[in-house]
Amino acid sequence: MRYTSTRNRTISCTFEEAICSGYAPDGGLFVPETLPAVSVATLKEWAKLDFAQLAQTVLRLFVSESEVSAQELSQIVTYEGFAPPVIPIQRVGSLYVAELFHGPTFCFKDLGMRAVVRFLSLFATKRRQRMTLLVSTTGDTGPAAVQAVSDARNPWLTILVHYPAGQISSFQRKQLTTTDSPHVHVVAFEGGGDDMDRPIKNMLKSAPSSSHWTGVNSYNIGRPLMQMIHYIWTYLRVAGQEEWEIGQQTLDIILPTGAMGNLAGGYMAKKMGIPLGKLCSGVNVNDITHRVMQTGAFHSSPFMLKTLSEAINIQIPYNFERILFYLTEQDDQLVREWMTQVETTQKLDLSTEWLEQLQQVFDSARISDKAMCTTTRQVWKEHHYLMDPHTAVAMGAAETLGYSGKIAAVFATASPCKFEESVTMAVGKDTWDMFAQSDQFPATARAMLLRNERPPTIYRNDRSLSLYENQRKWEEQARQIIATFENDA
Ligand SMILES: *Cc1c(COP(=O)(O)O)cnc(C)c1O
Repeated sequence: MRYTSTRNRTISCTFEEAICSGYAPDGGLFVPETLPAVSVATLKEWAKLDFAQLAQTVLRLFVSESEVSAQELSQIVTYEGFAPPVIPIQRVGSLYVAELFHGPTFCFKDLGMRAVVRFLSLFATKRRQRMTLLVSTTGDTGPAAVQAVSDARNPWLTILVHYPAGQISSFQRKQLTTTDSPHVHVVAFEGGGDDMDRPIKNMLKSAPSSSHWTGVNSYNIGRPLMQMIHYIWTYLRVAGQEEWEIGQQTLDIILPTGAMGNLAGGYMAKKMGIPLGKLCSGVNVNDITHRVMQTGAFHSSPFMLKTLSEAINIQIPYNFERILFYLTEQDDQLVREWMTQVETTQKLDLSTEWLEQLQQVFDSARISDKAMCTTTRQVWKEHHYLMDPHTAVAMGAAETLGYSGKIAAVFATASPCKFEESVTMAVGKDTWDMFAQSDQFPATARAMLLRNERPPTIYRNDRSLSLYENQRKWEEQARQIIATFENDA
């Protein structure tokens, strides 16, 4: 399989080039040149596989044997550190909840990130070239990436991770700052959730020739590729439990949505023939995704609002570009026009025709913090099921969109153990304490909380400068940090 850009289909790259570069050379996002069709007969075979076997089988369709051997692939797609069956499916009322968060950092991002980092680690070793991962995170990407790099223990591989100071939970901060891996460098910047995206994009365009820099946020094609597997697995398990004839019925999925990486994975899976119905996004008051799905207006809002579900605080979800690419049946020229417009004006207005097409596949609901807390409390009371704030946004969206009493699947993207402040606000301190002392609270999380923190580097926000000027300064600081640790090695 070769890879091309959402903005120019004459570009053709290997999987290695695509995953190691992050963005495509024209500023677009990488996508596979074709999406293989999956037949019902194939799906029936896949229903017999365990999670790791399924992941390997699906991934093999996208990664040629000549680039990654069968043995290498089986070492990359492993799920140690996850309790089997990797993604358990719970019943909450009529809904199925797919718990994607049983990995080492208690968030769904472990599932995709660990494989992506292992691919990069493999390619760095093969090339004998230093590779530095650049990450900006509003929460869970950072811990997942840091843990994956630290577990890879590969001297060729380092990570520089940035988070917005004060805007991630203290649990997440500790996950970043308690690692003692020499391959990890952590920065807190005084800005909004995606304010480091532009500096990182610049840096990826102009790395010094002596080293290789790459991004592992979900613009990296490795992430949505891995995330398709969540949908295939969930469909097959629900079909099994409901005793559906595979392929006869479709399954609607409701998930909390930030950068739309997980959503893009779902759309790709649907395009391949996985019997998925509507893909529904739950968002918080940072609601660009909801606005575009309801009205066609893809307008970045001028500022980020603080919420209790900070991992989905986003102003511009970059994977919308992949969604547009598939929506337009891979019309690279149109996507290029649209995205150029977004980049210059921060705005795009879809025509009524395109909006209707979008709405045939997607739906959305905007859930305020207050509504999210109410849902958390209700589900706890009625089903004794405790949700993290992001899962609760999806659950709130499921209610709003009329799924109560129907069969559909909600993606649970993080464990409540990561979000003491928000969960306590929703269900009260007594319930939190009970949870924190129960065996539902992961022992490895408890141990992590007791470790000492290493203070992060701070990038200051100089109030006399514009955001753009601050971003230039931060980029300079990031380059210096990398130069320092690359010299140390
Ligand atoms: C990242 C994240 C999301 C959003 O996923 P996207 O792929 O960015 O849309 C949802 N929930 C949690 C807990 C997350 O960390």
